[in-house]
Amino acid sequence: MVESTKFSGCILANLPAHESFVHGRRGSFRTKLLAWYREHARDLPWRKTHDAYRVWISEVMLQQTQVATVVPYFDRFLIAFPSIADLAAAPEDQVLRLWEGLGYYRRARQLHRAARLIAEVHNGEFPRNPDDVRRLPGIGRYTAGAILSIAFGAAEPILEANTVRLLARLLALRDDPTSGPSQKILWRAAADLLPRENIGAFNQALMELGSQVCVPREPRCPACPVAALCPTRKLGLQKVIPATPPKPPIEDVKEAAIVVHRRGRLLLRRRQATERWAGMWDFPRFAIGQPSLAAEGNMALSQQVRELTGLSIGPVEHLTTIRHGVTRFRITLDCYLATAAGRCSAPDGAEIAWTSPGELDEYAMSVTGRKLGGIVATRGLGKKVKG
Ligand code: SF4
Repeated sequence: MVESTKFSGCILANLPAHESFVHGRRGSFRTKLLAWYREHARDLPWRKTHDAYRVWISEVMLQQTQVATVVPYFDRFLIAFPSIADLAAAPEDQVLRLWEGLGYYRRARQLHRAARLIAEVHNGEFPRNPDDVRRLPGIGRYTAGAILSIAFGAAEPILEANTVRLLARLLALRDDPTSGPSQKILWRAAADLLPRENIGAFNQALMELGSQVCVPREPRCPACPVAALCPTRKLGLQKVIPATPPKPPIEDVKEAAIVVHRRGRLLLRRRQATERWAGMWDFPRFAIGQPSLAAEGNMALSQQVRELTGLSIGPVEHLTTIRHGVTRFRITLDCYLATAAGRCSAPDGAEIAWTSPGELDEYAMSVTGRKLGGIVATRGLGKKVKG
C-alpha cells in the first residue's frame, strides 16, 4: 500500500501527498518549470522539429539508452530513412545494421514493423488517434504520450525513468515507484499537472529536469527551479526517495562461437526469431554448460555447428575468450577456429552466408560477434590469439 505521508508544516499537510502537491501548487510548478526549460533545454536534434516520425525515432532510440549515445545514431538513421515510407521500404538487414551498437534490437525490428503498418494502414501518415498509436508494435503508454504531446500537442501525460524519480520526490512518495499502486499515483500526477498549452514542451521539461537536475544520487537541489515546492528536499530525503526496487539477479551465461572458414571466407548464420539478437548475423554460436563443451571435446562442438548450419567442421582450435555484459546477463564467449569439412542437410529455416573478413561490415552483428569478426580480420585466419 502506498504511503500517504503527512508532514506537518510542509505542503503535504492534510492531504495525501500527490493530491496536495498537484492541487496546491500546480500553476506555480508549471510556470517555474517551463521558464527553466526555455533557458536550460539542451540543443538536441529531435528538438528542432515537431515531426511525429522524428519524435518517434528519437523516443524509441532513447529507451534504455543515453542521449549522447543516441545523437549520432539518430542522425545516421534519418539520413538513411528520411521518411516513414523509406523506413517501411527498407530491408530489415539495413535497419538492424544502422541500429548495431544501440542494443535492445527488438526495438529496431518493432520500429520497422510499425513503419510498414503505418504505410499500409495509415497511408504513410503517423496516426494521431491514441488508440491507433498504442496499437503499433513497440509503442507503449509512455512512448505514445511522448509522441502525441510533442508532435501534436495532445493532452497526454508521460512517465519514464527521469519523471518517475522527479515526481516521486515532488510527491514524497516513499514506496517502490515501480509498484502498481505507485505507478497509478505517478501517472495520475503526470496527467493532473499537464498545462492547457505547451504540453509537449512541458513533458520534455519534466524529463529534462529529471535527467539534468533531479539526478539519482546527488540531486542538484540548489539549482532546481521547483526546490521551494519540494517536500523531499525540505525533509532531506533525497537519498531515500525514490526507493530502489529490487534488482534482478545477474545471470552468468557461457557460450561458444566457432569461426568456420573455407578458402578465406567465413561462415555466418542469421539468428532466428526465438533467439537473442534475432535477425542479426553471427558466427555459429550456442550455449555451453559447465563444464564447457570444449572440455567434452571437438565432437560436441562439431555436432552443435552441424545442427545449426548443416556443415561438418575439422578440428577446432581455441582462439580467444570474450566477456560481455548485456542487460542482466554476464556472457563468457569461448571462441574457436575451424575449417569447413563438408556438407550435410541444413536444418529447416537455417540461413547461412559466406563472407570475406573485409565484407563483415555489411552484416548487422551483435557486439560480441562484431568483436570476434574484428579479431579475425586483424589477426588473420591462421594465427592463434591470446584470450
Ligand atoms: Fe529533485 Fe531536489 Fe528539485 Fe526536489 S529540490 S525536485 S529533490 S532536484
